Amino acid sequence: MSEKFPLSGMSSVAMHACGHQNAEDAHLTPIFATSTFTFDTAEDGMNRFAGTDKTRVYSRWGNPTFTAAEETIAALEAFGLKDADGKPLQLKALLHASGQAAMTTLFLSNLKTGDAILSHYSLYGGTQELMTKVLAATGIEVIIVDMRDLNKVTEALQQHHHIKLVHIETPANPTIQCVDLDAVTKIAKAKGLIVSVDNTFATPYLQQPFKYGVDFVFHSTTKFLNGHGTAIGGVLIGKDLEKMRTSVWKWHVLLGGNSNPFDAFLLAQGMKTLELRMDRHCANAQKVAEYLAQHPAIAHVNFTGLANHPDHALSARQMRLPGAVMSYELKGGLEAGKQFINKLKMCVRAISLGTVDTLVSHPASMSHFGIPREERIKYGITDGLIRMSVGIENIEDIMNDLEQALK
Ligand SMILES: *Cc1c(COP(=O)(O)O)cnc(C)c1O
Repeated sequence: MSEKFPLSGMSSVAMHACGHQNAEDAHLTPIFATSTFTFDTAEDGMNRFAGTDKTRVYSRWGNPTFTAAEETIAALEAFGLKDADGKPLQLKALLHASGQAAMTTLFLSNLKTGDAILSHYSLYGGTQELMTKVLAATGIEVIIVDMRDLNKVTEALQQHHHIKLVHIETPANPTIQCVDLDAVTKIAKAKGLIVSVDNTFATPYLQQPFKYGVDFVFHSTTKFLNGHGTAIGGVLIGKDLEKMRTSVWKWHVLLGGNSNPFDAFLLAQGMKTLELRMDRHCANAQKVAEYLAQHPAIAHVNFTGLANHPDHALSARQMRLPGAVMSYELKGGLEAGKQFINKLKMCVRAISLGTVDTLVSHPASMSHFGIPREERIKYGITDGLIRMSVGIENIEDIMNDLEQALK
């Protein structure tokens, strides 16, 4: 539909990119709860096996409900972008059971024993553990530098000739540090390396990494894309369509990290309101950050929408808005952190992020409780650090809850 009628904004794309066609004329793409698909004849079966579209063979290989979500995500990431020939950029997305499953496909389909990944030190915990525990055991090395320093990136690539892939997470968890997508991609591409980006915190509405010539974009769809906290999921999007349909697809189906029709349906519905939700998430987050920054109980706030964040200018360059995840340090340390969390009356105590309601966590007593203190402090997880994913509630209620909890 978007080919015949060019859409002018991401909300229209999110609602109409996947079309409304199915045999029963259902308005929404139905939940195709089926493990397998029938063939009219042997020839029909043969054609489907041989074809490029493997969605109607076996649901580990693909399923029409997955396709609806995949086409929507691909259209959002490609929106308004052009390929090397100046034509509208075409992307292919593969939906997975979780972000971790999509990340596994990304790394294993592109790397082999003896290769290395270059990445930044502030990373999502699951990504860091996947790299240092699982990939390391297969002989794929991980080299971590501060990628905000471009000289360190260049030096690492000069020193380590086995680096094959550069993985960027920006903004990064939980420090909200940003990595320069344009500059790092240019350095990596000059050496012919693969570049992948974890775009989970930003979503395609705030940031489109394919604009800078990266090869892959990854999302944990569990977060802002689904938006309602109803399902775990992940997606891997690539611009080399042939590679996505052959080697990447092969690893995906053989590792077995496929999604399921119900979760794919929930994701497809959630994404329709992405633009509306993100505008409200971001507006609320900006107000919360400004309020906290002047509060006497708060030592500092990590949010790129504040002029004093070191990545304020970079974030303004590569993102439409600074997002809705922030972290802040309470002056009273561990005890103050626990007390603050316990006093919250509306904001929800939970890890994860990107849901319509505000989620607040205290990493030192929750997600990072098992990590030795010196080690977590090295990664910026200090005693009084609070991570907050600002929701789309009425802003007065979020502010009132924070105010009473900080008393
Ligand atoms: C949640 C998250 C992941 C992992 O995704 P799951 O859906 O939990 O498997 C990876 N990267 C980032 C930035 C995340 O927030």
